[in-house]
Amino acid sequence: MHNSSTNVLGCERCWPSAADAAWKARDGLTLTAELIDESHYHVMIRACPQCGQRFLSVFTERIDWSNGDDAQYWTVVPVTKREAAALKRRGSALTEIEINSMGSNRRSLLRNYPTGEGPREFWGTGIIVNPHD
Ligand SMILES: [Zn+2]
Repeated sequence: MHNSSTNVLGCERCWPSAADAAWKARDGLTLTAELIDESHYHVMIRACPQCGQRFLSVFTERIDWSNGDDAQYWTVVPVTKREAAALKRRGSALTEIEINSMGSNRRSLLRNYPTGEGPREFWGTGIIVNPHD
């Protein structure tokens, strides 16, 4: 499939076929822009040092006031260079609606670490910003 104009496929290094491997690969991505940097809501753009693919990464957290076992959620979705540039221009003004509209038909990587459970990585579609504190 020819999809060079919307290069959102990544490579074996940044976007391997297994979700747990893709989560580990996220550590190897270069942070290129902090868009929103709140303690329980963190939105950033990362890029693959090998193929240059950009990824939008969203972290949300809900505090567990009783046990301190905070619920944490990550979503990572590949974005084009043009989309990444538009996101950077919006920066901290980005709304959750705008974020949720990014890559809505694309495969996304999710990591759920809910209160009282272990972490789990799996594939999803698009981004939904979870409720957060
Ligand atoms: Zn890559």
